[in-house]
Amino acid sequence: MKHKEAIGKRRTFGVIAHPDAGKTTLTEKLLLFGGAIQTAGAVKNNKIKKSATSDFMEIEKQRGISVATSVMAFEYRGKQINILDTPGHKDFAEDTYRTLTAVDSVILVVDCANGVEEQTERLMEVCRMRKTPVIIFINKMDRDGKDPFELLDELESKLNINVRPLAWPIGMGYNFQGVYSIYQNQLNLFQPDKTKIAKDVVSFTNVDDAQIDEIIGEEGANQLREDLELIDGVYEPFDREKYLAGDVAPVFFGSAVNNFGVKELLDSFIEISPAPRGRDTDKGFIEPEDDKFSGFVFKIHANLDPKHRDRIAFLRIVSGRFERNTFYNHVRNAKKMKFPNPTSFMAQDKNVIDEAFPGDVIGLYDSGNFKIGDTLTEKDNFSFKGIPSFSPEIFQELENLDPLKSKQLDKGIKQLMDEGVAQLFIQQPGNRKIVGTVGQLQFEVILYRLEHEYGAKCTFRPRNFHLATWITSDNEQQMQEFLKAKTTNVAVDKDGNRVFLAETPFLLQMAERDYPEIKFHRTSEFL
Ligand code: GDP
Repeated sequence: MKHKEAIGKRRTFGVIAHPDAGKTTLTEKLLLFGGAIQTAGAVKNNKIKKSATSDFMEIEKQRGISVATSVMAFEYRGKQINILDTPGHKDFAEDTYRTLTAVDSVILVVDCANGVEEQTERLMEVCRMRKTPVIIFINKMDRDGKDPFELLDELESKLNINVRPLAWPIGMGYNFQGVYSIYQNQLNLFQPDKTKIAKDVVSFTNVDDAQIDEIIGEEGANQLREDLELIDGVYEPFDREKYLAGDVAPVFFGSAVNNFGVKELLDSFIEISPAPRGRDTDKGFIEPEDDKFSGFVFKIHANLDPKHRDRIAFLRIVSGRFERNTFYNHVRNAKKMKFPNPTSFMAQDKNVIDEAFPGDVIGLYDSGNFKIGDTLTEKDNFSFKGIPSFSPEIFQELENLDPLKSKQLDKGIKQLMDEGVAQLFIQQPGNRKIVGTVGQLQFEVILYRLEHEYGAKCTFRPRNFHLATWITSDNEQQMQEFLKAKTTNVAVDKDGNRVFLAETPFLLQMAERDYPEIKFHRTSEFL
């Protein structure tokens, strides 16, 4: 019974945003409400600063900080909230996508002046693929930004999702007076306050209440009524089922740095967001209520200190109850493993835990047994469906500078790929290693780590590919013709799947036209 109760209590989600929209600030305010931290400024901004791009040790140091705050757990109104942090830096986008496989919903932060930005669109695309329920928080309402109705239109058109405001701003910028919670029928007045929790909440049962005029002035009150009427006319009433299905995104407004609109967001989140959900496996769907433990690894963090080579594997629990010092099946390796020191991540502290439940994320010390996507089970052998790979954007061929160290090189590159640092494509003839990443940074990380951890000396040679698509076909003859015609552009990925590397979008289009029976997949999710 304890296991089922634990499921109902948990809410596991991620806060995502284009850099600078206010993800860190919002996360910190959420933690303040949960009492997980006492003062503002306690959450380290794990943002990777631009100036550090040439100094990747500095970046890894910053990433080290982010491990401590990778998962932040706190209690709020009887619920256990697990926030999974995601790196904002574009070069680590792949990390973020993988973390999104471990959450049950997300809060997407949007800057009211910048509206939808490049990373906002990409992150939303990933949420749409998985039908992840999304709540949108429009931040920085204390600054002059775009008109709220205009923002809603922009969200719908650029993010390709229906929206439904559940809070509404009264004024903006200098004239920002507060937020009307449509969901709770409450008016919260704005008092810039960076550390404390705003207490000025006035509740109404009806927006026509004359008290509203007294509080925010007749003009503001009339504008609010007009806006609310328009909202009711344009947007369908909020339908939780549609939100849970990923078809409609509720929208909140506020100012994270001033701690405004955050409580409305959190209180509504507690009520509407999904409890831990099951996941698909190669042997069918696993529900969290299933009493046998199962979980999957979605992130591996290496320790850069050569004296402490251990890594931490982040495991999301999907079903049953995880227990310390109990043997579980490592399905891919077909062996049994137990974990004497599993850790939870409560705000800044890591604690050893005895048990954990669906929705929880725990850290397992690992000496190289895990790779991203691995499944642990208590009873049956099944594997959670793979964590998708997306096309890298930069491709370089790895060249070995010391033939006597090719074993070390092979081992090192395999380990780094298991950690998900980059993607490896092997090309014939000669088993040529083409490494694909989303950012230049990873190449520096790879060369440095290959040399310092594995003693292999290498260099990278740029390859002029534009993107990788995974190829499949029911027509093996056409596939063979294609592979023959495009030898310089085909490779296999780490799992042996065929990949087409196109130099330009145009060449990809041509290939799609010339070989209509071959499917060119933009992600490995189809597998
Ligand atoms: P992240 O990159 O998304 O994590 O963004 P941060 O939380 O670090 O915020 C980026 C900048 O925006 C910081 O300087 C914050 O102080 C500022 N900021 C965050 N929220 C607000 C807000 O509500 N109003 C204003 N004016 N600035 C904000």
